[in-house]
Amino acid sequence: MDTQAAYEELGLDSSASDGQIKAAWRRLVAEWHPDRNAAADAGRRMQLINKAYQHIRQLRDDDAPDSPATEKPGPDSPKKTHTRKVNLSLEEAILGCTRTLRGQFSHTCKDCVGTGQHVLAKRCSTCRGSGAVRKGALFGWLWNEESCPDCGGDGRQREQCTACNGSGERAVAYRRQVRFPAGVRDGHVLSLPTSHHDDLEMGLELQVKIEPHPIFTLDDDGVLRCEMPVNGYAWMASRWVEVPTPDGVQQMRLNRDALVYRLRGHGFPSAPRGPRGDYLVKVVPVFPKHEDPAQDALLDQLIASSTRRAAADRTQPLGQWQRRIKRWNSGKKDPARDQ
Ligand SMILES: [Zn+2]
Ligand SMILES: [Zn+2]
Repeated sequence: MDTQAAYEELGLDSSASDGQIKAAWRRLVAEWHPDRNAAADAGRRMQLINKAYQHIRQLRDDDAPDSPATEKPGPDSPKKTHTRKVNLSLEEAILGCTRTLRGQFSHTCKDCVGTGQHVLAKRCSTCRGSGAVRKGALFGWLWNEESCPDCGGDGRQREQCTACNGSGERAVAYRRQVRFPAGVRDGHVLSLPTSHHDDLEMGLELQVKIEPHPIFTLDDDGVLRCEMPVNGYAWMASRWVEVPTPDGVQQMRLNRDALVYRLRGHGFPSAPRGPRGDYLVKVVPVFPKHEDPAQDALLDQLIASSTRRAAADRTQPLGQWQRRIKRWNSGKKDPARDQ
């Protein structure tokens, strides 16, 4: 069905508001529903009206910028695709996880085909079946006839649809268990197999959102990183420290020549279900701003003993330097040597 024809079917043009479209559709459905209309072509008209309405709805949904209302009625089938976001922690994305998702989506009530009401055989009590009501306009001396608001002008009594409480839509609750593969990334979309609810087929699309992590960061290139402060003396002394990894806390040996450490196979999977990449830990050695007297004394001891050891070692640059200074200094004090 082309767009022009769709609007014409509803008696509107493309300038109509969404509200006008829905109102026109409800009015036409009330008029042409085969349960209520004995005309031979009522069923065919009903199909055309619904097709036109779905065509326009879909057209407008597609144009809507990033609409949060993501249900789209398919043009010909009762299948709907329901889209929702799922937040995963970084660990869940790295290791994979199973989630039970609950929610609900709404669809057009099939008892009243979205009109929210049923048309009865008896006459409308408001207009007594005439389809028109009189209404005083100005100071009560002008009288207009208006279409009856309760029956829409056809003079037949309406009753609220009990299946949808008059809303024209019915909610369907769903519960799905979903396995997210290891390595799923922010922005990935998972399409689940169609499920059936009432007489409706429902497709579920999940948009993955990975939550920011308090410890790890995932770079755009897929490298998992962590920056952690370490005790500067422990780093100087090449001691073991505990490092967080997605697999739990691990022991790692510091090395005073290195600030960045690569933990192979502890990072983010290179692709969904792929092998784990590397995890880079950057350490930031932290020293106290001021050592207390006891620490100061320990540092003095450390300096003294390492100076003694350096002096005794001819291969050590510090010892070589001290000897060079000593020779140069004693040469200056001995004027007889060069003159
Ligand atoms: Zn209903
Ligand atoms: Zn009426």
